[in-house]
Amino acid sequence: MGQPIKKPAERREVPQAEYFMLATGRFGKFPRWVFVCPQCGTKQTPTDVEAAGGNPTTQAGFSCIGRFRKDVGCDWTLGGLFQIHTVTVVNDDGTKFPFFELAEAGETSDVDQAKGGAAVVP
Ligand SMILES: [Zn+2]
Repeated sequence: MGQPIKKPAERREVPQAEYFMLATGRFGKFPRWVFVCPQCGTKQTPTDVEAAGGNPTTQAGFSCIGRFRKDVGCDWTLGGLFQIHTVTVVNDDGTKFPFFELAEAGETSDVDQAKGGAAVVP
């Protein structure tokens, strides 16, 4: 059925507090968190998303930076039909949100690196 879509090797559920603690431990306070788009692999922060015109709290880690600026990333969103994400964050009340993976400790945004330069081609 249809064209091939990347499938996650595994998908896990992580309590929100745990995900937030992990993110803060790696990157510091929230706007500095580095997410990885599951489709194109572009690393991006809430600050990047905001600078590009997106909402840092509701769209970072959920919609790729490429939805807000055309020179980087892709137009992937976890709100779409195809589900390729590997992390689902579970709220205290049991609500589940698909989320981008966090980058590894020490990794930085690809968008920062692209500032003033050529487009990032994943
Ligand atoms: Zn992307």
